[in-house]
Amino acid sequence: MTATALGLYFHIPFCRQRCDFCAFYLEIYRDKSASSFIDALREEIRLYGRQDSARRHRVQSIYFGGGTPTTLSAERLTSLLAEARQTFEVADDSEISIEAHPATVSGDDLSQLVHAGFNRISFGAESMDDGDFVSIGRPGTVDQTTQAIALAREAGFANINLDLMYGLPGQTLASWTHTLDRIVQLNPSHISCYALTIEDNTKLAKNIQLGSISAPDEQLQIAMDETAHLLLEQAGYKRYEISNYAKPEYACRHNLLYWTNGAYLGLGPSAQSYMDGWRFGNIADLAAYGQALSEHHLPIEAQDHLSLPEQLRDAVIFGLRLVKGIPTQDLEAHALRYGHRETLIGLRSQKFIEENDGRSRLTAKGRQYADSVAEQLY
Ligand code: SF4
Repeated sequence: MTATALGLYFHIPFCRQRCDFCAFYLEIYRDKSASSFIDALREEIRLYGRQDSARRHRVQSIYFGGGTPTTLSAERLTSLLAEARQTFEVADDSEISIEAHPATVSGDDLSQLVHAGFNRISFGAESMDDGDFVSIGRPGTVDQTTQAIALAREAGFANINLDLMYGLPGQTLASWTHTLDRIVQLNPSHISCYALTIEDNTKLAKNIQLGSISAPDEQLQIAMDETAHLLLEQAGYKRYEISNYAKPEYACRHNLLYWTNGAYLGLGPSAQSYMDGWRFGNIADLAAYGQALSEHHLPIEAQDHLSLPEQLRDAVIFGLRLVKGIPTQDLEAHALRYGHRETLIGLRSQKFIEENDGRSRLTAKGRQYADSVAEQLY
């Protein structure tokens, strides 16, 4: 039997400080909590190593996300990667990514990571305007971003992603265009552009409520998205998903698993998994996570088995996010199964979904309202 592809995700739940817009599950880095976390994560790797379901898969991508994985030392990160390799069957040509905050890396650390096998690095660049960092409470400077990219290249990273955000308080179309121009000059292999969304219980949400800053302007964000599409495609990047652009051959293999209904196993507090038709998630609490693993239990908080029609539904909903879309016959079969035929006719006539060459995809207008389209087809 051929082993199915699997992506491994490690959630490293630490940052040096919390940015004003961020609602991810994380703790402020403390060495003592980091040591206990590593012990717990090792136990979680070991427990999965004993399960047939995990061993039936062949790992094709490993992704260290967070939080800020590079708050952990390079030694700790490389030993976690080594442990994953000893436990799972990891393909030699796997994509092995790490997220990093530009202010948390040194040349030595980056060389150690490359030497250990990390071959893709994703920096949270966010903007190329220091003023934007102040308005979203994100530590660091543009100079630190450019230095970190240079150091990563020097260390041997050829596959570099930069995450950007648009629609930031005070950001204008001109300043966003300036950010894009500078990013293109830096020539990363991959760029992700995310519209700022205001999450509940963040400092940014509070400041908007207090009236000290304004909420993002939806029309401006649409114009910024269109500008990014135009400038990045002109510069040789191909948009392949709503928020993602890549040079040829550099689409993120790990993230593609999420949009093609592939299998992934998430380790660490709050990490989510999808394997053998099961969706399950870890508890989003570092102490409870550590406690469960100290008792040799997996820290799973919620799980749900999806029927085959539900798995096909998810494949349609996630696949529509891709620019290449999905087979039209899959979309139509899904619409028939879930009573969405009239909805689909409406989405097509309002030009949210288009069809050609037997494939259906979101139009440019559909991409702007992707969440609403997904809800209507769920
Ligand atoms: S660095 Fe990233 S994960 Fe950490 S607080 Fe800021 S946005 Fe959130």
